[in-house]
Amino acid sequence: MQPQFVNQQPGMIQPQPQGPTGSPASGYYSHSGKIGALAIPLGFGAGIASAILLGAIYGQVMARLPVVGKITFVIAALVGAGYGAITAMLFRAGHGRSTAVGSIAVLLSALIGHYTAWASWLSVVLSRGNESGPSMFAILADPGEMFATISGISETGAWSVSGSAPSGTMLWVLWSLEAVIVIGCALALGAGLASGGVYCERCGNWCKEEEGRVMLNPAPKDMVKQSLERQDFSVLNHIGPLAQPGPSLRLDLAHCAKCEGTHAVAVNALSPKSDGNGTDVELVVSYLHISPEVSRWLRSL
Ligand SMILES: [Zn+2]
Repeated sequence: MQPQFVNQQPGMIQPQPQGPTGSPASGYYSHSGKIGALAIPLGFGAGIASAILLGAIYGQVMARLPVVGKITFVIAALVGAGYGAITAMLFRAGHGRSTAVGSIAVLLSALIGHYTAWASWLSVVLSRGNESGPSMFAILADPGEMFATISGISETGAWSVSGSAPSGTMLWVLWSLEAVIVIGCALALGAGLASGGVYCERCGNWCKEEEGRVMLNPAPKDMVKQSLERQDFSVLNHIGPLAQPGPSLRLDLAHCAKCEGTHAVAVNALSPKSDGNGTDVELVVSYLHISPEVSRWLRSL
């Protein structure tokens, strides 16, 4: 018998069909740590090349930005996120299933991207007025000269913030803050993406992920976690499909669409924020291996 949700009517005790239990496929999914042949050329090669391109554009934009303020740091965060996301996705496209190696690719991309951004920025700043300054590539090739030039600029100030041009220590603090934002955002997003997804080691493909494929009523998180860790899915029958808007449990499903050999479910608790803007998402159960029967049952709900 296929387990089904039970229509829960107040005051009525109904028989509760049990979900399949005790499947051999159990335990949490984690990356195998293996990397496909293309993960290095894509993650480290194409990833870093894309960071150099993005860094060059970022430097050009920053040098031409008429105002420096909050927007500067927003752009820095977006560029950092760009370095991280592009490199991590390329690494994953090359079948990289190692969070550590993926994160190293992301860190290298962010560092090289930011270094390129400095050279790109200097190439514009040094060519102001009628002077024609060195090209970005000439600056890139000479890190010592580049640092000496930056030190020189720091003494007089480079940009104007609310009418004053910060220089010296203040300028170095702002530049350091910018670097921390760029590299921090790259690592936060990139490492998150590199650690994400479910890979089918049986046939060598990423699984198809369906976020929020099933929405259930809210339920005690510990109870849900402990039941699912025991591969006892009858608890989902008791909780029932989401009856009204508000707090809920979101089931994300992953399965290998190629060989149907890998199946997993993750659970997140959703609760609307008190100010009405958006939803808080709390991970209850990270991707847990499930049997093909449970997977098919969940996808039929
Ligand atoms: Zn497969």
